[in-house]
Amino acid sequence: MKQYSCIIFDADHTLLDYLADEKQAFLALYKDLGMPVSDELLAISRVSSENSWTEAGLYNVTDPQVQKAYHTLYRTHTQEIFNRIFAKFPCHTATAKQAGLLFLEKLKGQGKAFDGALELVQALSQKAGGKYRVAIATNGLSDIQHARLKAFSPYVERVYVSQDLDSVKPLPGFFRRTLQDLGVEPNECLMIGDSLISDIAGAKAVGMDACFFNPKGQEDKDGVADFQIQSLQELYQMV
Ligand SMILES: [Mg+2]
Repeated sequence: MKQYSCIIFDADHTLLDYLADEKQAFLALYKDLGMPVSDELLAISRVSSENSWTEAGLYNVTDPQVQKAYHTLYRTHTQEIFNRIFAKFPCHTATAKQAGLLFLEKLKGQGKAFDGALELVQALSQKAGGKYRVAIATNGLSDIQHARLKAFSPYVERVYVSQDLDSVKPLPGFFRRTLQDLGVEPNECLMIGDSLISDIAGAKAVGMDACFFNPKGQEDKDGVADFQIQSLQELYQMV
């Protein structure tokens, strides 16, 4: 593999375990709201979150309308999660809107890194004696993503959040602003992420190389990625 000066990681489902964070945020919220927690409530919560994300169009990050309204849609989606949950598990202490806002507060308190992710970033990082400048680039709400990624901050130059950049992955503007801020050329950079669209196609479109983090063994049908790994540990051999 060629020598890069800079490695940029995606956050959710790459370094951070979003599903674990979401579950902890639901648990903390239900405790505050005085709602008895059951496996069924947690299962409905996950399904409601997934379905509301899909229906809000938040997976359609190549749709210009979604790109433009991403952060508004994100907030509306959070309220919609609780419209769905409370239809099955009525809540007497908060409205769906209040629960949505509280849920986002609870999410801020999370930040579960995948096993070995923090150690890997540390080992690569120039800031900790490694060979690379390391950054993180993520779609999401600024305060939440910065808070969840706090443990990585000693090792990364910056965490780039779509809401701060006013542009979302996979838009070229997102990646160009990130590269410009880092002061690096695209061909010096390797992007690593779990989304073929947001991370891989997005990075490739501006001339970066991209490594598909693919723990579930999905097919890269169009062969967009330059590299593929199934576990983050494989990066130790590659770079
Ligand atoms: Mg991701």
